[in-house]
Amino acid sequence: MNIDSTKYGGLCQCGKEHQMATRLCVIEAGALHRFEDYMAQLGIAGKRCIVYDTNTYMISGLQRPAGEQEVIMEAEGLHADEVSTAELLKRMDADVEILIAVGGGTVHDIVRFCAKERNLPFVSVPTAASCDGFCSNVAAMTWYGYKLTMACAAPELVVADLNIIAEAPMYLTATGIGDMLGKFVALADWRICHEVTGEEVCPTIYSIMNEALQQVWTHCGDLLEGSIDAYRAITYGLLMSGLAMQMIGTSRPASGAEHHVSHFIEVEPAAIGVKSPALHGEKVGVGTLIASDVYHRMAEIEDISELVLPYEPIPDETLLAVFGERLFEAAQKENSKDCLAAVTPEALAKAWPTIRSIISEIPSAEEIHAVLEQLGAKRCLQDIGIPEEALPVIIKRSPLIRNRLTLMRMRRMLRLTGADMM
Ligand SMILES: [Zn+2]
Ligand SMILES: [Zn+2]
Repeated sequence: MNIDSTKYGGLCQCGKEHQMATRLCVIEAGALHRFEDYMAQLGIAGKRCIVYDTNTYMISGLQRPAGEQEVIMEAEGLHADEVSTAELLKRMDADVEILIAVGGGTVHDIVRFCAKERNLPFVSVPTAASCDGFCSNVAAMTWYGYKLTMACAAPELVVADLNIIAEAPMYLTATGIGDMLGKFVALADWRICHEVTGEEVCPTIYSIMNEALQQVWTHCGDLLEGSIDAYRAITYGLLMSGLAMQMIGTSRPASGAEHHVSHFIEVEPAAIGVKSPALHGEKVGVGTLIASDVYHRMAEIEDISELVLPYEPIPDETLLAVFGERLFEAAQKENSKDCLAAVTPEALAKAWPTIRSIISEIPSAEEIHAVLEQLGAKRCLQDIGIPEEALPVIIKRSPLIRNRLTLMRMRRMLRLTGADMM
């Protein structure tokens, strides 16, 4: 199965011209055996630097692409951050002309950052269906401790070998599913913001992401039988999600309140005070359960007009208490132009009936929980190393990790009491 992604670029019904750097995605069993054919077909030629981590380099049965330089990064403690990207930039030969990432999300984000830095074409070889960022041109990097979403390079070519991807450990595939199921919340957030502030929603990009999500939602149960078809469907969904991000140039269709939970936990804010060893998609899966539960409980409120409050900026003292001194400055900078200021109490109250109907399309936390349980995925804060007592602070403060409007952020303008407060 090939995705001819060039057809997604160009003038769209939304009136915008969408950029698409990715030219071809191959999703096939044994695709790596034809790696050179695909490179030749797209005319990607020149001195190659192939980047692995110590785990992906050792994958049994992996047909490693040939190249002039190989860089193998230590997998233990590897993060897409200012340290690993500086290391790769230093280790790459000066005359490298093509970067090839062989691995999961972290190796890809490091390579896509360096490809952008050096202005080089980049080729993606995912070794597990573990995240949705392979095709993306943005990456959520950990930058001096804080989470920053940065513009990076998208791959020109993706070669997804299903023989390798289907052999990856199930917990890695389950993280990809967690990352994808988050789109139920992310897409709802996008539509809700459109209702409240008039933020643009491109119908084409929306439907591509929704189709990618439905692909994964329908097929993830088949993974247990280990069928190649299920892995094909999941990989297709993950790659399409990245292409949708590339079309819009941001992670808006892919990342809402559930990703903010994940990123908030990841930076170890003072208000939580513990480190989670969990993978990105594991945290997003738990964030999706939390957001789905909170949103559905909010939707039980029929009339919100008595509960809406005027906008108030977030005080510095709150940011300091939540994030601690180490992250305060970054958090302050992130929130300095608070997107919530665009919301008026009137607009929020007026949109409420539509918001409730948008929420009704998100599967319940119980439904999502059942799917994650079937796959043996992480399903609660404790599973990802965070005490359950942190739940209220996560619900209340996770939106502050990123200045992107979500319904979770709009809760600051709602007087919620009792069980609704949670
Ligand atoms: Zn469009
Ligand atoms: Zn993600």
